[in-house]
Amino acid sequence: MNAPASLAAVTPDAEWADQALDAMLARVLAELAPREPLTIIEWAERHRKLSSEENPDFAGDYRLDNTPALRGILAAAGEEGVQRIVVQKSAQLGYTAGVVCNVLGYYAHWKPCVQVVMFPREKSAKDFDAEKFSPMVRATPVLAERIHLKSRSDGNSTTRKKYPGGLIKFVASNSPSDVKSTTAKIRIVEEPDDTNKDVRGQGNSIALLRERGKAVRGGLELIGGSPTAKGASEIEKEMRTTDQRRFMVACHHCGERHEVEWEHVVIPGFELDDEQLADPEIDAKWPRRDVYGRARWEDAYYVCPHCGGIWTDDERVANIRRSASEPPFYGWVPTASAADPGFFCNELQSVFDGSRVPVLAEKFLRAQHLYDQGDPTEMVTFTNATRGRLWTYTGDLPEEDELRERAQKYAEWTVPAGALVPVMYVDVQHDRLAVCVWVFGRGEEMWLAYWGELPGRTIVEHAGAWLELEELMGRTVMHASGVHVPIQAVGIDSGDGQTSDAVYAFVRKHHHRGRPVLAGKGASDRVGRVEIWTKPKPVDPNRKATKASRYGVHVNIIGTAKAKDTLLGWAQEGGRVRLPGTGPGRMHWYEGVRPDFYEQLLGEMKIPSPSNPRIRQWVERTDRRNEALDCTVGCLWLSRHLQLHLRKPHVWDMIEARLVQASLLDEDEAAAEAEASVDGATSSPEAPAAAPAAPLPVPAIPPRISLSPGRISLSSTARFGPGR
Ligand SMILES: [Zn+2]
Repeated sequence: MNAPASLAAVTPDAEWADQALDAMLARVLAELAPREPLTIIEWAERHRKLSSEENPDFAGDYRLDNTPALRGILAAAGEEGVQRIVVQKSAQLGYTAGVVCNVLGYYAHWKPCVQVVMFPREKSAKDFDAEKFSPMVRATPVLAERIHLKSRSDGNSTTRKKYPGGLIKFVASNSPSDVKSTTAKIRIVEEPDDTNKDVRGQGNSIALLRERGKAVRGGLELIGGSPTAKGASEIEKEMRTTDQRRFMVACHHCGERHEVEWEHVVIPGFELDDEQLADPEIDAKWPRRDVYGRARWEDAYYVCPHCGGIWTDDERVANIRRSASEPPFYGWVPTASAADPGFFCNELQSVFDGSRVPVLAEKFLRAQHLYDQGDPTEMVTFTNATRGRLWTYTGDLPEEDELRERAQKYAEWTVPAGALVPVMYVDVQHDRLAVCVWVFGRGEEMWLAYWGELPGRTIVEHAGAWLELEELMGRTVMHASGVHVPIQAVGIDSGDGQTSDAVYAFVRKHHHRGRPVLAGKGASDRVGRVEIWTKPKPVDPNRKATKASRYGVHVNIIGTAKAKDTLLGWAQEGGRVRLPGTGPGRMHWYEGVRPDFYEQLLGEMKIPSPSNPRIRQWVERTDRRNEALDCTVGCLWLSRHLQLHLRKPHVWDMIEARLVQASLLDEDEAAAEAEASVDGATSSPEAPAAAPAAPLPVPAIPPRISLSPGRISLSSTARFGPGR
C-alpha cells in the first residue's frame, strides 16, 4: 500500500502519518482478505507462546520438537475429513498444552467457531483454565487480543471464553445441562475414564456430547485420556474403533523401526541369573539396597529389540525427533483399518528430562517393591500413566464359567424348599424391560427363578413392554411343596429421565400394601458409602413438586455400590457370588437360565478411581451389558425393604410350614373345583407327599398371621392360588 505521493512530500510529520496509514490499511486488508491456509502445526509454531506457568523449561515460542510425538496427532487433527481422534495417553507428553490448547487456540484465532471441552468434574475444568488455558491466552498475543479474560462485560468467566466469531465452553461431565446445552464444532473430551457414565439418568456423557455435534459440518471430536482397567475403560472402548496408530521409531544402529516401549528397558541387577546369584562376590558386585534390592536404576538403559544395540537417552531423543519429522504420518503407523485415527502414547515417547530412562526405572522399582509387599497401587499407576496401558485386574471376579458350573438342577419359575419369598426387580431400557425374580430364604440365601427381557417401548406409559410386565408380575413361583407363591414385592428402576414418567404411572397403578410396587433409583455413589436400604425421606410439602411427587410416587434410593460390594466383592475372598454350597448369603441359579446371565451378573468391576487410586469405585465393563446385575442388586434391596434379613428363624419356619399347609389346602380346593366342574364325580385328596422339615405345633400358627405387619401378608392362603 502506498500513500498518495503529495501527502508524503509536505512535511516530515506527513511521512509518519503515511506509515501509520499504511500499517492500518494493511491490518484492515488482512482482516478482509481470505486467510491463507495454515495448519494447526504451522499456527502453533508461528503464533503460540508457551508461558512459564505451563512449562518453565520451554517457555517462549512453542516448539513441536519438544513434544515430537504430538506432531502426528496435530497433523491428523487438521486433516480434511477427520471427524474424530482418540488418544490413549500417558503422563508427561505435554498433551494438554500441545494438543488440547493448540487446537483451542487455532480455532479461536484462525478459524473461529464454537468449541466445547468436557472435563470429568467442574474442578478439573477450573484447574485447566487456571493452569493451562488462561496462561496460554496471556502469553500468546494473537489470543490475548481476542479473548479478554478479565472482561465480565464480554460475558467471560472461568468456564466461558468469548472471541470474535465464537466461544469456548468448559463443561463438567456430571452436569446434564452443561453437556446438552451447546452445539459445537470442536468437541474435546478430557479423561473419559473419569467422566460420568450416566449423567443423572440421561446416559453416557460422551454420547450426549457427541449428539451436540451431529448437526455441525466439518466438526472434530478429540478424545484424550489415560487408560485404567481392562474391560472397564472408556478410552479402551473408544480406541477399538480407530486405526490404532503406534509410534514407530527407527534405530540409529540398524535402521529398523519399533514402538519405543518399556519392555525394551534393561535395569542392571533387577533379574540376576543363577550364576550371578551363586557368585560369592555378589554383595560386592551387586550391593543390596533398601527398596531397590540389587537393581541399579541409575544404570538403566534402552535396547533396540532388532539389533540389541544400546540407546543412550540422547540417542533415544534424537531417534524420536528424527522419526517424528517424517510426513505425512510423523512416525505413526496404523495397525488397524478404520476411518478415525487413534494414537497409543507412552512416556518413553517423551523427550523431557523427567522421563529419562533411569528416572522411569527408579519409579518402576519403587512400584515393584510395593507390589511385592501386596500393594499394587503404584504398579497400576506406572502401567496406566507411564506405559499408557490398561491394567488387568485378575482374580477380582470369578469367571463366567465358574458360575455356569455351579448352576443347579431346578426349572425356571420353580425353587427348592428353602426359597420362600419371591421378589422382582425391573431394569428399564428404552426398547425393553429386563427382569430378575429372586426368591429369598433364611440368612438372605437367594435363588434365581427368572431372568429375561420383555421387548417393547417403555417411554409411553401403560403401553408396549409395560403391558407385558403387568402379566409377568402376576406369575407365581412354584415352591418345592407344589404351592404357587406370588411375587411379594416389585421394584422398578426410575433412574432414566426419559422413562421415569412411565415408571411412576406404572407404580401408581399397581402399588398396594399387600404387594408393594416401588420406584427405585441408584444412589450417586460408586464407592459404597450409601447403605443398600435407607429410610425414605418424608416428602417436604414446601419443596417444589418433583415429577415423582406429582404422580404421588416416592422414589427409593438404592445403595447400589454397597449392594455390589456385598454380592460381587472385589478381592479374592470377597463377594457372595463366590460362596459355594448352601447356607446364609449363598446365591443359586438354575441350569436353563438364559446364557448371558453369567456375564451380565459380572458386568461391573470395582477398580481404583483414576483421580484417587486409594479409592475403589464401581464401573461398568465396556464389553457387555449389566442389566442382570442391576436387577439382582434391586432384588437384594427389596429383600432389605421387606426386612427379610431381620427375620427370626422361627418366622421362616412358620412361612415354610404355611406353604406346606397351603399345599394341603390347595389340594382340597383343587379337589373341590374338580368336583364342581365334573358333574357328580367324586374324588378324595391324597395325603401330601412332602412333609414339613420339622414338625410344628399346630397352635403356633394362628388362623391369620401377619409376619411383618404392613409389609408382606402371608395371612391369607387364598392368595396361594393354583398356578397360572
Ligand atoms: Zn537396532
